[in-house]
Amino acid sequence: METKKLKDDKNGIKTACEILKNGGIVAVPTETVYGLAANCYDEDAVKKIFKAKGRPQDNPLIVHICDMEMLKDIAREIPEIALKCAEKFWPGPFTMILPKTEKIGDCISPNLDTVAIRLPDNEITAEIIRQSGLPLAAPSANRSGSPSPTTPEHVWADLEGRIDAVVYSDECSVGVESTVVTFCEQPPRLLRPGGITPEQLRGVIPDIVLDKAVLAEPEKGKQVASPGMKYKHYAPKTESFLVEGESDAFSEFVNSKSDSVAICFKEDLEKIKIPTLCYGEAKSEETLAHSVFAALREVDEMGAKEVYIHAPTKTGIGLAVYNRLLRASGFKVITL
Ligand code: AMP
Ligand code: MG
Repeated sequence: METKKLKDDKNGIKTACEILKNGGIVAVPTETVYGLAANCYDEDAVKKIFKAKGRPQDNPLIVHICDMEMLKDIAREIPEIALKCAEKFWPGPFTMILPKTEKIGDCISPNLDTVAIRLPDNEITAEIIRQSGLPLAAPSANRSGSPSPTTPEHVWADLEGRIDAVVYSDECSVGVESTVVTFCEQPPRLLRPGGITPEQLRGVIPDIVLDKAVLAEPEKGKQVASPGMKYKHYAPKTESFLVEGESDAFSEFVNSKSDSVAICFKEDLEKIKIPTLCYGEAKSEETLAHSVFAALREVDEMGAKEVYIHAPTKTGIGLAVYNRLLRASGFKVITL
């Protein structure tokens, strides 16, 4: 199929709405990563998302809304603590798992009585949802398994010819996906770290529980609370390793590697003699979140055999970056 390039202006928004109302799929900008959107009430349209991405059938989708009114059609029960979080973190990179209404079909969350919901902080996509009147089911707009897209060019590289249109807008400001919390149990549980940090969450939910899939490899064949966490994900084609250690130790270690690339911090750059990709400053986890997926995409263009990635701290949004890199490297961690 021919994929249209839409501008992030009045006309682009109007065309995106028409495509979505007619059962098409459109890549849209959000503050986290670009999403691949469909009308969440149109089963055939939602199925097109899975096909275009090559997404495993059992990996449920997040429904994106533009106001609290829309929430009522999607969530059957909304506990007080979830409302508090919505007030604090929406619009923003925060997703709530809640019991679903009968309006939410099996195609959104197969075999589950729950649904993931988010109110994104992006004017263009908010306007598309508002003008179409449709809550949008939208996973990341990449081929399943590859690094998430943070620019329209990333989306184009992965999905051109497989989807109806891409809204060309700015680079994503946050750069990693949303934080996913389930409110279907007491106390609520963090299933996937993301743009809202555990420290921020504890300000509203002091007793929040961290799911063990955040930092550990799920056991084979075991059920996981967030199905998306069991797949190899975000991975470059180049064989990847996550390396934990101080700047001097990391630099010395990678300098002994031939035919390899280092994805490193700004602070490491002058000590490293092999080819490098810098993904930000060690002390500023936000800069790492912003650039991590672009670096994972770029590394494949460098033609190296292996890539060694300097691990961030697990604090703040660093936990989300660490979680993505752990999966990108297939859980191969080297501790110096
Ligand atoms: P993506 O949109 O590709 O960033 O992935 C959405 C994430 O939310 C995946 O990790 C899913 O497994 C998770 N998710 C979506 N819906 C549910 C749900 N109803 N219950 C648990 N996890 C969910
Ligand atoms: Mg994804």
